[in-house]
Amino acid sequence: MNPIDCPLCRLDQSTVLFAGPHWLAIDAQDPVYPAFTRIIWHAHVKEMSDLTRLERTDLMGVVFEVEAIMRKHLNPDKINVASLGNQVPHVHWHVIGRWHNDPTFPDAIWSTKAQSADERARSAAHRKSLARRLPEYHDALINHLNGLYS
Ligand SMILES: [Zn+2]
Repeated sequence: MNPIDCPLCRLDQSTVLFAGPHWLAIDAQDPVYPAFTRIIWHAHVKEMSDLTRLERTDLMGVVFEVEAIMRKHLNPDKINVASLGNQVPHVHWHVIGRWHNDPTFPDAIWSTKAQSADERARSAAHRKSLARRLPEYHDALINHLNGLYS
């Protein structure tokens, strides 16, 4: 894929929380799942096994750092860590905080699950409260990654 056509090469720089040596940590800005951080390898690399052992360790290391900071500051019921990358040739990891009252729990966020009106209202209220706590998580994550990688 030509970088000009690649949405991850042309991503909105305002979403970048931290630029590491070989990866970016970004706020996925998902309106339904606000606690969603994505770690994207800079270069066009399709599979984890295309990376060297050291690069894999670097990438997984930051994924687990993000998970730990998300746990500490947002205390989700569960954190989902996923690598799909079916649409772009950039290895990337999704780190997603999940709560029992989010719209698709306990299924994957990409699943479809019908919610009752009450469930939709509870999910919306939870998202609103989470949105207020998000800046603290992002600030803590930026500070933590700065301490590790700067
Ligand atoms: Zn790209």
